Amino acid sequence: MGQDRIPIADPAAENAELAGELEAAVKRVLASGRYILGPEGAALEAELAAYTGAAHAVGCNSGTDALHLALRAADIGSGDEVIMPAFTFVATAGAASCVGAKPVFADIDPATFCLDPKSVEKALTPRTRALIAVHLYGQTAPLAELSALCKDRGLTLVEDCAQSLGADEGGRRAGSWGALGCFSFYPTKNLAAAGDAGLVTAREARHAERLRMLRHHGSRKTYSHEVLGYNSRLDEIQAAILRLKLAKLDQLNARREAIARRYGEWLAGTSLVLPKAHGRGRHIWHQYTVRHPKRDQLRARLEAAGIASMIYYPVPLHRQPLYAPDNAGLKLPATDEAAATVLSLPIYPQLSEAAQKRTCDTLRSLLPSCA
Ligand SMILES: *Cc1c(COP(=O)(O)O)cnc(C)c1O
Repeated sequence: MGQDRIPIADPAAENAELAGELEAAVKRVLASGRYILGPEGAALEAELAAYTGAAHAVGCNSGTDALHLALRAADIGSGDEVIMPAFTFVATAGAASCVGAKPVFADIDPATFCLDPKSVEKALTPRTRALIAVHLYGQTAPLAELSALCKDRGLTLVEDCAQSLGADEGGRRAGSWGALGCFSFYPTKNLAAAGDAGLVTAREARHAERLRMLRHHGSRKTYSHEVLGYNSRLDEIQAAILRLKLAKLDQLNARREAIARRYGEWLAGTSLVLPKAHGRGRHIWHQYTVRHPKRDQLRARLEAAGIASMIYYPVPLHRQPLYAPDNAGLKLPATDEAAATVLSLPIYPQLSEAAQKRTCDTLRSLLPSCA
């Protein structure tokens, strides 16, 4: 009598929906003989620069590399401090650590899960060089406020847009506010490759030029190596897949928005705290994240009923073994509260109304006993 398990994300369903077009795109690249740094990658960069409204875009191997290369391009390094939320994926802080800088963690606004500018102010020191604004779950951190703060203090604003391609504030898209914007096309992100891929947007030509060198062994000219670089290129097959999906991204994001709206209706009046859009621009609902004090119990019972859910993120970065020794006295109450109560529910464009209804009905039946 088993019902199908409802996953939290379903990249295979998206690829099945587009199978014919995807296969044609992959075949086109296979036949071309150009597999790395060719016309597909260049076209994707131009299309993503146009889509985000950034002046430049440079593809790379992953969102993690995008963050790392962005900090290198901005010359952030040893002795520098980079302020960021602790309520994010580890790659945000790892990028700072990899360039020899110190990640400094600020607290979040409990209503939006994104940086609280007041906490950022408190984290400033004379060594602060950059701020990484993470646009968590699909909506922007308070960009107008954070940009003004960075401008006043002469800090480089880097956006972590891994969860927010297509989100905007006041009509201006994520990736066009900071000096640099870092994107991931990991297979579960809103724009999804069939493997690893990433990209950095840049406002200034000098940053874009440096990013192109850094991703390609520090080289502009074959066998001339000007700086220490890496092999971090976005390959042509991934670029062709991403171009095809970018053309459909607004529709894919609109389907997520419709799902988020239905969750809002179907879960209203329960003991769950539902996520709120900040109202300053478009939310692209990378995650639909509720809060509940007994979320572990709820998650286990959902799983038993064949419904997946996930905790992004159960251990904030200032409490990770990697960073805890440097942050022993640090107090981030809103971050700790979020880490202890969040639960992300299934959301992806192909999630059927029936599966979503079953998720909501199951939640409604489980909640009274998870009090
Ligand atoms: C996914 C993600 C990354 C890392 O991207 P990868 O492509 O997996 O390396 C970085 N930051 C955030 C907020 C992410 O969600």
